[in-house]
Amino acid sequence: MTNQINFNKLFKSLLFLILLISASLSAQEAKYVFFFIGDGMGLAHVAAAEAFMDADDNKNTSGGLSFTKFPVTGLSTTFAENRFITGSAAAGTALATGHKTSINTIGMDAAKKLPLETIAEGAKKNGFKVGIISSVSIDHATPACFYAHQPERNMYYQIALELPASHFDFFGGGGFKDYGGADGQISVVENALNQGYKITDTKNEFYELKKGDGKVIAMGSVLEPSGAMRYAIDQTHEDIPLKDFVSKSIELLYSEKGFFIMCEEGKIDWAAHENDGASAVNNVIALSEAVESAIDFYRKHPDETLIVVTADHETGGFAMGSSLKKYDSDIKLLKLQEISAQSFTVLADSLFSVRQNQNPEFAMHLVEVYFGLGGETGIPLSDYETEMLESAYFVSAGKTELESNQEYQLYGGYHPLAVTATHILNNRAGLGWTTWSHTASPVPVYVLGAGSDSFNGFYDNTDIPKKIARAMNINFNN
Ligand SMILES: [Zn+2]
Repeated sequence: MTNQINFNKLFKSLLFLILLISASLSAQEAKYVFFFIGDGMGLAHVAAAEAFMDADDNKNTSGGLSFTKFPVTGLSTTFAENRFITGSAAAGTALATGHKTSINTIGMDAAKKLPLETIAEGAKKNGFKVGIISSVSIDHATPACFYAHQPERNMYYQIALELPASHFDFFGGGGFKDYGGADGQISVVENALNQGYKITDTKNEFYELKKGDGKVIAMGSVLEPSGAMRYAIDQTHEDIPLKDFVSKSIELLYSEKGFFIMCEEGKIDWAAHENDGASAVNNVIALSEAVESAIDFYRKHPDETLIVVTADHETGGFAMGSSLKKYDSDIKLLKLQEISAQSFTVLADSLFSVRQNQNPEFAMHLVEVYFGLGGETGIPLSDYETEMLESAYFVSAGKTELESNQEYQLYGGYHPLAVTATHILNNRAGLGWTTWSHTASPVPVYVLGAGSDSFNGFYDNTDIPKKIARAMNINFNN
């Protein structure tokens, strides 16, 4: 009997001990924080990317992306203070500051009067090292929302001048959209150099960056005129992939003090605006690989690392189905596309400037080569699809004029031939687009690590930085 009582006692105290340990483990502070934002990445973009990775096997079940396997998932609303369908500036401000603001506002209140402290600034103030990474230009809306405070997102020069004033430790990915420097004005590069930043723009310089190099702005080795890195589908060995910016920021920022790293994959949104499914899924995969760099770090510091992956809004009204294919899907057809619709636009425009190329037959040849549609080698097209492509060619060549509303609805202000080709290819794959803009659909949140439990459920985008701050045990923006 005595033995029985002792056993019960022992069992109870053991149970208590286990509860205590697990409570203290789950209450472990997040010292190393990764905040990934897939710009424009809705559930369908994620699902299509996984289906694309599995496309050769014709199944959609392996969960090939790194972050969809995270143990905690949530859903977040995205509306802006003054519009149901948000934009990247208002959504970025919500994710960075925990406050709703008006469309196009960067890190300020809705009246565009008061600056709002961001979680990155809060982290810096509390002794964390801070890194800001984006695959588009570093003065673009999403990254800007973490370090700048401007009434309009298109004030790129003013935003870039604010960058070194943040004293953040690492900026990486794209370059600048507006370098400034005209008419005796200081250039944004000179301004950053004056304030002690080291700036790199080649692969060699980038991979040689090491701890002790001080504050760094690491720009991609191949940048588009917009300052963005190339689309993942267009990248070669000459480009520095997004995942390497994450690994490098970890290498440079890791210390006992902890870090906060925000990494945006901005071109999921650009591809989705252009209704270019193949480019969108390739950039979702690039984001997944960047998250893998963070997961590698998490494995070494599981009790102190928090990884949050979410989106600022959904773009394109993207759907895993098309009216053309009804209940069928053939996602692997996206693999027929060789280059992004944007690169196709640049290429086609230069080829069409040669007189002998100015005919619909040459347009159909390009569509065959770059999108795998029609001709001898591509998938056979219906008469209707051929007609759509030829009409698009005549509009691009300025030989047909459409009423502006009709032209916008058909081509969204993009290259008519490029977007007609992506529409046909995407619809054949069983993917649909409903808009050239953003939508108000809630977006997914995937979370792993210290403090992740609070991310379960359905909440607003303004709750996300508050949850992160609680996990880090810091106050900001009070
Ligand atoms: Zn956005």
